[in-house]
Amino acid sequence: MYKLELLKNAGCQLPLSVLTRPVVYTPIINKQKGYIATNKMKILVIDDSPTVLELTLKLLQAAGHEVEGLSFPGEAVERTRALKPDIIVCDIMMPDISGFEVCRNIRKEEDLADVKIVMSSSKAYEADRDKAKSLGADGYIVKPFTMAKFNSIMQSLGSMQLSAWGVRGTLPTPQQGYIAYGGNTSCYSLQISPGHHFVFDAGTGIRNLGSHLLKNGQPRITATLFITHPHWDHINAFPFFTPLYIPGNVVRIYGASQASTTFEQLMVAQMDGIYFPITVREFGATLSFHEIGEQEMMIDGVKVRSMWLKHPGNCLGYRVDLHDRSFCYITDNELYPSDSEFADEEFVNKLADFCRGANVLVHDCTYFDDEYASKVHWGHSSLSEVCRLAHLAEVDRLWIHHHDPDQTDEDIERKLEFCTSVLQSLGSSTKAVLPHEGMSENV
Ligand SMILES: [Zn+2]
Ligand SMILES: [Zn+2]
Repeated sequence: MYKLELLKNAGCQLPLSVLTRPVVYTPIINKQKGYIATNKMKILVIDDSPTVLELTLKLLQAAGHEVEGLSFPGEAVERTRALKPDIIVCDIMMPDISGFEVCRNIRKEEDLADVKIVMSSSKAYEADRDKAKSLGADGYIVKPFTMAKFNSIMQSLGSMQLSAWGVRGTLPTPQQGYIAYGGNTSCYSLQISPGHHFVFDAGTGIRNLGSHLLKNGQPRITATLFITHPHWDHINAFPFFTPLYIPGNVVRIYGASQASTTFEQLMVAQMDGIYFPITVREFGATLSFHEIGEQEMMIDGVKVRSMWLKHPGNCLGYRVDLHDRSFCYITDNELYPSDSEFADEEFVNKLADFCRGANVLVHDCTYFDDEYASKVHWGHSSLSEVCRLAHLAEVDRLWIHHHDPDQTDEDIERKLEFCTSVLQSLGSSTKAVLPHEGMSENV
């Protein structure tokens, strides 16, 4: 009541519901074109200005969202935990507790890691945007904002950020002429939310990913690793993933067993004290191993599917779906040409269905067609077959991955030209992309 009195004394004429306690508005759908939210979200708006709060709530409510207003930023963590909003829109310039402080406090809470935070401010300075980002905010919106501006921020929040950390196959290639796209072996990351990353394979690229995550200053990191198979170029830099050594971090690892060797044994045996001096007992993070096969899982609200690939031993491909975005990671995998006696149309169709409509497909693109002829049954694909699969599966972008260690930078560039021309000849809308280490893109 004390706070209410203060606001009343300040001459505020707003409804009591906004001033006293947060209130959930009943959504009213405004049928005006362009103002209907495609995905109704639960949004908590934090702003000390009653006028701005009221206007923002009305705008978001009219767009079909479920909204709640909070004038007292000191209650932000408590209200977030109670309401479990999808998104918080938080003002920066507030007396007593700034929006930055609110963001920092919420990001300290592990159970609130999935909540997206958008900082709102009348200031558009780069320094403020950078600060918001460094504290774990997902977006930044300049006031006053329109629904169109808000929707474009929401669109970027709904996407997953994919980063390449190792694009080479088999062996690292640190020598001149082989590093324009990076010399590290398989590793990609997908940022699901601030502080939570899905990681695909633990080739030597995972070392730079670990350093990057620590540099970003997230207080706690949750990394979910998906291992395709235990060949060296996919697991041997696992002990160099620095977040594993920091208490408070959570690292979960998914992958398949091989014959009678469990998945955990496969990962841990390389750190038995003989092959590597540090054992897993010295990790500070909370570590868990999850043995899987071909299946569908929900991990922190994200749908993940796995599928057996064609490669020596057990090898899994992965698909991630979040909101309306999807990502597939398919390596190592051999697509036998259709005129080969080993062609398996059923498998290709199954894989195409698995990858259907993906925004990004990272696929084993080890060989040019003429190189493949002498590498049949090595477990890798020729470019033409991968392009055919990507086209059949109607994926948006094909990331060319797993370069042979003998291939130079120029060879890799020729791969892009080759894939682009094959896709064109197929009349495909799929775009071939050549990722390089450190490259990030919204899926
Ligand atoms: Zn490989
Ligand atoms: Zn392999």
